[in-house]
Amino acid sequence: MSRRMLIAGNWKMNGDAAQVDAFARDVTQGSDSLSADLLVCVPFVYIERMKQGLAGSRVALGAQNLAAEVDAGAFTGEVNGAMLADTGCSHVIVGHSERRAIYGETDAVVAAKADACVAANLKPIVCVGETLEQREADETEAVLGAQIAALFEQCDAATLAQVTIAYEPIWAIGTGRSATPEQAQGVHAFLRGQIADRDATLAQSVQLLYGGSVKPDNAAALFAGADVDGALVGGASLKADSFLDIAHAAG
Ligand code: PEP
Repeated sequence: MSRRMLIAGNWKMNGDAAQVDAFARDVTQGSDSLSADLLVCVPFVYIERMKQGLAGSRVALGAQNLAAEVDAGAFTGEVNGAMLADTGCSHVIVGHSERRAIYGETDAVVAAKADACVAANLKPIVCVGETLEQREADETEAVLGAQIAALFEQCDAATLAQVTIAYEPIWAIGTGRSATPEQAQGVHAFLRGQIADRDATLAQSVQLLYGGSVKPDNAAALFAGADVDGALVGGASLKADSFLDIAHAAG
């Protein structure tokens, strides 16, 4: 099955109004000839501004987190899926390693947030990945297998049908040290196999993104992997030119 390529930007807690405006203007001008799908996930407060800037472009909008609670209510500081959908988002990054490590998000919380996305008609991009210590101890497959198992055990079937998985080795995020194309393809094939063991049809259609120091100069080699369906891009998504160069490498 041919799957679409998705290039998703994760701005993390970066950017300001001027940067949003410049990015939106330049990406809108530069993305017409691309065949890959583009998505940019900005801080909550800039979603509306990015939406205005991207009006008429083919770039979709996403958020980087959402509340696990579906219904509105007394959850000070939280933003639920319905609000994000209302604001024009189509996707939400869920379970990024920074949220797991810094904010203590467990597999159960990640699954609840993925379900909360789908309850609001949003597509969850669920991040999985191993630490350097785990890779060096030959635990990569055990760690990723457990993360996939948790997702399948804890999420609704309706959620699993909508999920995109981002493989983000933690040692490659923000370090400038990407996985090699062989490492990325090897892990993606493993992940697709884990999904196929549970649902062969879903395994063929599910998009598997690679994330971790993707840059214009390594993107094409990473995308050559048969099971690599795009990228989740942090640092290189903050500027339109590098984001577009990565998107061009995807076709
Ligand atoms: C990320 O934030 O998900 C990420 C992959 O960051 P970077 O591309 O900067 O490594």
